[in-house]
Amino acid sequence: MAIILDGKIMAAELMEGLKARVDALKEKNVSVGLAVILVGEDPASQVYVRNKGKACEELGILSETIRLPENTTQKELENLIDKLNQDDRMDGILVQLPLPRHLDEAAVLRKIIPEKDVDGFHIENAGKLFTGQTGVTACTPKGIMHMLKKGNVPLSGKEAVVIGRSNIVGKPIAMLLLNENCTVTICHSRTQDLAAHTKNADILVAAVGKAKFVTADMVKPGAAVIDVGINRVDGKVVGDVDYAEVEKIAGYITPVPGGVGKMTIGMLTENTIESAERKAQ
Ligand code: NDP
Repeated sequence: MAIILDGKIMAAELMEGLKARVDALKEKNVSVGLAVILVGEDPASQVYVRNKGKACEELGILSETIRLPENTTQKELENLIDKLNQDDRMDGILVQLPLPRHLDEAAVLRKIIPEKDVDGFHIENAGKLFTGQTGVTACTPKGIMHMLKKGNVPLSGKEAVVIGRSNIVGKPIAMLLLNENCTVTICHSRTQDLAAHTKNADILVAAVGKAKFVTADMVKPGAAVIDVGINRVDGKVVGDVDYAEVEKIAGYITPVPGGVGKMTIGMLTENTIESAERKAQ
């Protein structure tokens, strides 16, 4: 049976350390603030935004959620970001994705100054990750690395396979694994014979968005299987991995819920605190 990399336990530990950092800043009269912009009524986004607000509250971070109507224009949204860029109370600005289709997501993300881009999606932060410089790292990939390290999963020289090549998960996690000296393969919907790749993986990251996509016959015995997927099946949240079968042969596994998702919010608050710490210096 696999060792469970428990996001709930790891996130609780992380939050304790983060609370101490917020308190230390407060002692120096430095506040920490996160502005979250939500455009439209997407139900999943509403839940994510609520959870982000709760995590901030727990840590004593000022959190402000700005809800805008579905028909908000590009100009209105960019003007709001400009205002928040100048607002010293706000150390982080997060635009909840996806945006309604009429808005240009890439242009919106570019508007956020890189120092306050706590999601790590700004092209400058993405570029820094790809060129080995220090910037803000995207929350989900950063959370995955935290879990692998806390779980003492060996990385250097190991074969890592990432299924998915999105800008928010697949590509950045591949880079982070490469930085830890893994040999990295990125698979996607055009990959031929996916299982031939995944069966080689010592570390397998599934970021696909399809329930039970990774089955036991695709997994190398002893592998660390990281399930990023969030899928709703019959009202329940499940990952991309057939957990019941894969946990029998994997060496390590992350559950869904209670895995990577928990770490993502923790890393968002950490990125916000880091931004406040930079401000304090
Ligand atoms: P995207 O839809 O942007 O990317 C999905 C990727 O999966 C694409 O690269 C796609 O390939 C690939 N893919 C689709 N079908 C196949 C297939 N049959 N074989 C191989 N690859 C395939 O999703 P995201 O990266 O944004 O998210 C992935 C999942 O992670 C979702 O369930 C999402 O909800 C979840 N998520 C969870 C987070 C958390 O905190 N736990 C945070 C962010 C996301 P191609 O590029 O060729 O289309």
